[in-house]
Amino acid sequence: MHYCDHNATSPLRPESLAAMTHALGVSGNPSSVHANGRAARAIVDDAREKIAALVGAKADQVIFTSGATEAASLALWGAVEGALDQHEADSKTARITRLFVSGIEHACIQATAARIAEDLPWIRLSHLPVTADGVLDIEALRVALREGKGRALVAVMAANNETGVIQPLEDVSRLCREAGALLLVDAVPAAGKIALDFALCDYMILSAHKMGGPQGVGALLVADGAPLRPQILGGGQQKGLRAGTENLAGIAGFGAAAHTLLTADGERERLAHLTDRFETALKKALPDAVIFGTGAARLCSTSNFAIPGIASDTALIALDMDGVCMSAGSTCSSGKIAPSHVLTAMGVDADTSASALRASFGWSNTNEDVQAAVESLVKLTERARRSPTTDRAA
Ligand code: PLP
Repeated sequence: MHYCDHNATSPLRPESLAAMTHALGVSGNPSSVHANGRAARAIVDDAREKIAALVGAKADQVIFTSGATEAASLALWGAVEGALDQHEADSKTARITRLFVSGIEHACIQATAARIAEDLPWIRLSHLPVTADGVLDIEALRVALREGKGRALVAVMAANNETGVIQPLEDVSRLCREAGALLLVDAVPAAGKIALDFALCDYMILSAHKMGGPQGVGALLVADGAPLRPQILGGGQQKGLRAGTENLAGIAGFGAAAHTLLTADGERERLAHLTDRFETALKKALPDAVIFGTGAARLCSTSNFAIPGIASDTALIALDMDGVCMSAGSTCSSGKIAPSHVLTAMGVDADTSASALRASFGWSNTNEDVQAAVESLVKLTERARRSPTTDRAA
């Protein structure tokens, strides 16, 4: 297979597999005081150090979760309810009354923010616009932060998972600091691909399986003093911030992936070369192909594009038959392909959006994968254009 879908899940790195295999042989609970428990605890602590190092944080700021979706939920609910606790303890500390979420955030942020605004009547949710290249409109954030009363919580991702477009986090952070707003950064697609500085934000979410670690484990990083009411209660693990026995093997694999990313010399340049090669060959063979976000800085690994008239669901099947794995740039819910909310926010029309595909490269890819992907795309396009009624987008 030519696996070009690393933003969906990156295959397990050999370093993660080795760390997980070792951890599975350690039969202790990290909370136990005996030797086996201490061995398990050492694995968790080591992974915490490695994950913190990847984003310039301290180990004790890392809370392990079941993935970035749970981390987003803990961050948003935890911040809102934690700020409420702080307000009740000291009325000079304001409650969170405003949520600002960029229009290109992942569903785990969008849906949780929407539920909070539905459930808590004193909270107003607003979506921040992006430019045609998919970059947050920083002026819109500046204006939004000036309006309204009470503390704000802002969610802006470090880079988008569909387009790879990198967001202006330093500017966002400065505006949030000036306004006394809290900042949540979804660093899931960006981790290991660009330098990340946890000091810019108050909350950051990460997912192991997007960086070559296992599925079902992620982390929320919380800055010192940032409000956080725990959401899963129980045995008091992780300083009571997220109860439940830690997923030892998953955490070990996560730590190994983070460490590999931090120490892999030249990997970003290699991925940038692959992505560039892919886009150059695609445009040469199919000059009418549209590549999204080219006017902005993008991750070294992600290419979001559309071939006019070729429906993405049909293309995915043809690619799959050639052994090429990609994603549609549109989401599928209840069997219905809906236009991507990211492309819609960028002003892309519904027809073009219905043709959107995403190639995302990673550690396992070589030039051969790029070549196979482009050949398959050219073949399926030529076939569809020869017999337009069967293969073309409606
Ligand atoms: N945030 C982004 C940008 C993602 O792409 C994803 C996964 O697709 C998530 C969050 C959720 O991650 P997880 O699968 O670990 O819950």
